[in-house]
Amino acid sequence: MASTDGVDLGDALQVLQRVFGYPEFRGDQADIVEHVIAGGDALVLMPTGGGKSLCYQVPALVRPGTGVVISPLIALMQDQVDALRALGVRAGFLNSSLSYDERRMVEAEFVHGELDLLYLAPERFTSEATLRLLDQGEISLFAIDEAHCVSQWGHDFRPDYLSLAQLHERWPKVPRIALTATATEVTRKEILTRLDLGEGRQFVSSFDRPNIQYRIVPKKEPKKQLLDLLRTEHPGDAGIVYCLSRASVEKIAEFLVANGIQALPYHAGLDAQTRQRNQARFLREDGLVMVATIAFGMGIDKPDVRFVAHLDLPKSVEGYYQETGRAGRDGLPSTAWLAYGLSDVVQQRKMIESSEGDLAFRRRAQTHLDAMLALCETITCRRTMLLDYFGQSSVPCNNCDTCLTPPESWDGTVAAQKLLSTVWRLRNERGQKFGAGQAIDILLGRKTAKVIQFDHDQLSTFGIGEDLNESEWRGVVRQLLAQGLLAVEGEYSTLVLTETSTEVLSRKRQVLMRKDPTPPRASTRTAAS
Ligand code: ADP
Ligand code: ZN
Repeated sequence: MASTDGVDLGDALQVLQRVFGYPEFRGDQADIVEHVIAGGDALVLMPTGGGKSLCYQVPALVRPGTGVVISPLIALMQDQVDALRALGVRAGFLNSSLSYDERRMVEAEFVHGELDLLYLAPERFTSEATLRLLDQGEISLFAIDEAHCVSQWGHDFRPDYLSLAQLHERWPKVPRIALTATATEVTRKEILTRLDLGEGRQFVSSFDRPNIQYRIVPKKEPKKQLLDLLRTEHPGDAGIVYCLSRASVEKIAEFLVANGIQALPYHAGLDAQTRQRNQARFLREDGLVMVATIAFGMGIDKPDVRFVAHLDLPKSVEGYYQETGRAGRDGLPSTAWLAYGLSDVVQQRKMIESSEGDLAFRRRAQTHLDAMLALCETITCRRTMLLDYFGQSSVPCNNCDTCLTPPESWDGTVAAQKLLSTVWRLRNERGQKFGAGQAIDILLGRKTAKVIQFDHDQLSTFGIGEDLNESEWRGVVRQLLAQGLLAVEGEYSTLVLTETSTEVLSRKRQVLMRKDPTPPRASTRTAAS
């Protein structure tokens, strides 16, 4: 099995079979392994579960010296190394969790050439001591895992990754392989520049996960909706439920347990021991549901996760893709389910506005959120849109909610005009700021205390929206936000017009809206809220 570059892929195949126990390489693995063994640089884009680890582990075992793996997943290094050692691979790691003696031992092993793989946290590369240590041993390759962390454009920027640019200068002969599961065209370019990987070959696998069924529904009674999903479609299945806050993680986990579902919480506020224990149980036991913040999941390899449910809107399409990608690694049918509502949009915009980041950061966050919203409100195939986001074209999938039950759309132009002109009338009035609730109350002709207080029952749009109910109006606001025809601003989530709003108001633009799949129920909101 000699290859064209004169590399013997036979050695690699032998390592794959003898050490890892797999009969053959999957997808692009063989090409990647061959390229890296021959000393080439590479950027590998492969979806979660695609089998990235072997792309550097096998070459590290074939080439002389130690493969140095840079990974931000400090909490998982121990597990990764244990798993490798169980296979007879000589692996070690250096991070802040080690005692002085432990560290010295690993360093000595590296220097004496007794390690096949050495895992390092990225911050190590900002220390001259680490660089000098690496000079003392033989390095077979550098593997830069989660390489999108070097991108400021991406959703998970880690400044320490910038120091990895020096690898090439300092060790020009050592091949580097950067790996990630999430990279749009922009992020990919940024990885290549920042890691000085320009000459490297790119291996881009398909990002399609055909066994995952994508579904996005309007959030009505989230707990009940979640329970229905678990009971009717996933009884006894292992799954992950993502929530935005620690408090909601606790609440939802308790709720599920109270309803007879085996659920465990996971978030950064729990002590390390509890987190570790819950994670271990989730991995080992069958049919557990992990209720977690996004702190959970990176690097988790559990093949039979049957569903990933989001009770809050992810901040970006990349994040959503990465989180949902934890479902169905075994290739069997799995569900990615997301419930989102207007309050999610408002909350996220608020978080962006009040964030510490500079203007550029906030703009980026806003763009990420907009793309996520567009995915939620699309009337076309979700998968096509997801893949398109990652620069891959595809045809409608027949395995997402919009393909299976095409949403009806309706001409929402008049509704949009009613809402936008109400917002226009509310602008800066007496320095007061009003959110979606007030605008909807006005449209519905509700004489709430707040409506009376500000004489909003005198506005010409008062009561002109009685053809829709409250939930439908919320849908209108959400979709206008998603389409950029409306924006929210400031501490009080004030609704404001955008540059394109006027096109709607002046009848230059038609607004198509998606009908919510389930008929909105009668309003239960009280006048005072
Ligand atoms: P990623 O890092 O891309 O998310 P992993 O490297 O963790 O994916 O691999 C995902 C799963 O697929 C692991 O359980 C791994 O053992 C398995 N796997 C990877 N390559 C192969 C292969 N060639 N044959 C069989 N199983 C494989
Ligand atoms: Zn589809």
